[in-house]
Amino acid sequence: MAPTTEVQARFGPSIPGTDPSAPLLAVEELRVEFRTRAGIAKAINGVSFEVNSGETLAILGESGCGKSVTAQAIMGILDTPPGFITGGQIKYRGVDVLKRSKEERRQIRANKIAMVFQDALSSLNPVFTVGFQLAELFRKHRGMTRSDGKKRAIELLDLVNIPAARQRVNDFPHQFSGGMRQRVMIAMSLALDPELLIADEPTTALDVTVQAQIMNLLADLQRERNMGLILITHDMGVVADVADRINVMYAGRIVEKAPVFDIYAKPSHPYTKALLESIPRVDLKGQQLNVIKGLPPNLTQIPVGCSFSPRCRYAQDVCKADPPPPLYPVQPGISSACHFWKEVRGDE
Ligand code: SF4
Repeated sequence: MAPTTEVQARFGPSIPGTDPSAPLLAVEELRVEFRTRAGIAKAINGVSFEVNSGETLAILGESGCGKSVTAQAIMGILDTPPGFITGGQIKYRGVDVLKRSKEERRQIRANKIAMVFQDALSSLNPVFTVGFQLAELFRKHRGMTRSDGKKRAIELLDLVNIPAARQRVNDFPHQFSGGMRQRVMIAMSLALDPELLIADEPTTALDVTVQAQIMNLLADLQRERNMGLILITHDMGVVADVADRINVMYAGRIVEKAPVFDIYAKPSHPYTKALLESIPRVDLKGQQLNVIKGLPPNLTQIPVGCSFSPRCRYAQDVCKADPPPPLYPVQPGISSACHFWKEVRGDE
């Protein structure tokens, strides 16, 4: 078998026009809106970021800030209607996925990018064994026989540390615990050797010990396979050990970008600072927990100017004027969408 065919048998067909030196994924000025009876909800308002092979980018923010919608837009699984991509580009290795044919988009999303969802039970089919569901992926996308597909399914369950994989491959999803089901979901997402994995709140439904195991598993697999990993979460504790960089989102915009260490050591945006202050500390007994007062804005009526201004303790009149603050460069690798980032950091 010619090498190209071997590569294609494992990784799927190559995508014409891709540039191996281009970023693995580049999202540029992405805009998504939901057209609802209550009005147009502007869920994503000009989001840009890049992820490269071997790198973990965490996208962090409260529920409704647009982080999962960003992932759905990348994966092409937005519910349309009511959701519409109204602007921007989603580039895989330099190729704008949104401009390619339906079949090419399917090829990219099936073979190069995979996603782990937060609710493994509703993502797996309850009436088929996990072995059957995994084998089907190999049969459909790699042309394998059912028995070869099942052998690969056992290897994958082994890879994600499911004990007695040879027996468990014949079990149904409901026969696995929550943590084990999430491992099965990770196995399914890795089946077609994706270059990029998007994990959307992969540990939300799990207890703390299992959370740590799943995060360690994802980090190990990402390192071994040199994948790009986008980790979507509302939990600052989850990302501290595994992310390289963090993008903080608020009301459909990225408000801070920084390497993980800098975010924790010296946040540059009041929202990030408030999120950090709201993490309970075991060394401060008897103290009141800090909360961020107010609620995220209704996306059909985003405030003019800085959308965080109604909740921000640094807010001044200029913050309420259009346009919203751009992402100011703070230092190489760090940017903040705040007019007063110097005060927030204590640099002045
Ligand atoms: Fe707060 Fe103003 Fe900065 Fe917005 S621009 S985060 S309102 S200080």
